[in-house]
Amino acid sequence: MKSMCLEVKKRVSKLRQLLQQASYAYYVLDNPIIEDIIYDNLYRELQNLEFHYPQLVTADSPTQRVAEKPATHFNSIYHNVPLYSLENAFNIKELKAWEERWLRQAPESGFIEYICELKIDGLALALTYKNGILVRGVTRGDGIIGEDITNNVRTIRVIPLRLNLEGLENLEHVEVRGEAFLSIDVFEKINHEREKAGERLFANPRNAAAGTLRQLNPKIAAQRKLDFFAYTLHLPNINEEEQIVSNHWQSLELLQKIGFKVNSYKYLCTSLEEVINYYQQWDTERFNLPYMMDGLVVKINSLSLQKQLGFTQKFPRWAIALKYSAEQTTTMVKNITINV
Ligand code: NAD
Repeated sequence: MKSMCLEVKKRVSKLRQLLQQASYAYYVLDNPIIEDIIYDNLYRELQNLEFHYPQLVTADSPTQRVAEKPATHFNSIYHNVPLYSLENAFNIKELKAWEERWLRQAPESGFIEYICELKIDGLALALTYKNGILVRGVTRGDGIIGEDITNNVRTIRVIPLRLNLEGLENLEHVEVRGEAFLSIDVFEKINHEREKAGERLFANPRNAAAGTLRQLNPKIAAQRKLDFFAYTLHLPNINEEEQIVSNHWQSLELLQKIGFKVNSYKYLCTSLEEVINYYQQWDTERFNLPYMMDGLVVKINSLSLQKQLGFTQKFPRWAIALKYSAEQTTTMVKNITINV
């Protein structure tokens, strides 16, 4: 272990305090006090210090948890399968390191396919369907327990209340995960109206979407024109032998077939080079999209390989968020000043 000076201890403590404050404002209040890029840089700095000084790691460090605890004004619901966050890569070197890591765990995996999806900046929802009917919509929460926001979810028009299960009647229990979000146009309109009404403005579309879904009045949610892309399908009552999909691409196709919107820019790659090209292509093209996206999500296509790799305490090992990094700045947002 490295010897530690007082400066390091102080910095770690300061970083924790700032990150906790920012995280609470972001996840619980839906009212961020610093920009995401600043948060990410401070988080990385803390991770790095904890890596070099492991004696400083504490269970309550922001690096040790997925997200804030769910708000108390909704019923708490346990996720059947944890709804974890994603590990981040901010450049190609980190992407390559991720591939090397998972390959070490599954060296015999042979021919590799990755699916790239756009990382839409919204909030993750877990939807449960029993016999084809939507019975529950839950936020990610802390990944283990989410908030029951079913009444608000029902107002999102692109989320089917009843699935199209023609020929698939054995799918008695279907769980779908995806991203709820607001288009940039709708977000600007909402803020314009809030400004006229003298109300607090939302910081960004993600915030506005989260604020809309985590308030108690479904009428407000209904007016806000939320959108949703589905990206994960779980079939808990289907035995392995009967699994009707063997890879993620087929899951996405099935999601579409049963009634969900799936983002059309999904892309199947047979090498990491193809992933890198796709990432570089979107670096500029992302600004032409009608919604915010902050990176790609790269997922291993084979579901059996996904299962073999499993999860860390916080992330799936078979997926990574490949983010675009913005310029670094010093920021003063609300009442805290942060030097990065
Ligand atoms: P994340 O946003 O980095 O990535 C995980 C999320 O990506 C998933 O939960 C899901 O909602 C989303 N996603 C979008 N498209 C997806 C797809 N196709 N497949 C799978 N998932 C997809 O992780 P997070 O834990 O939600 O948030 C952490 C990030 O939030 C930080 O990196 C930071 O930028 C931001 N944050 C900011 C502040 C702040 O104060 N500004 C505070 C806390 C967190």
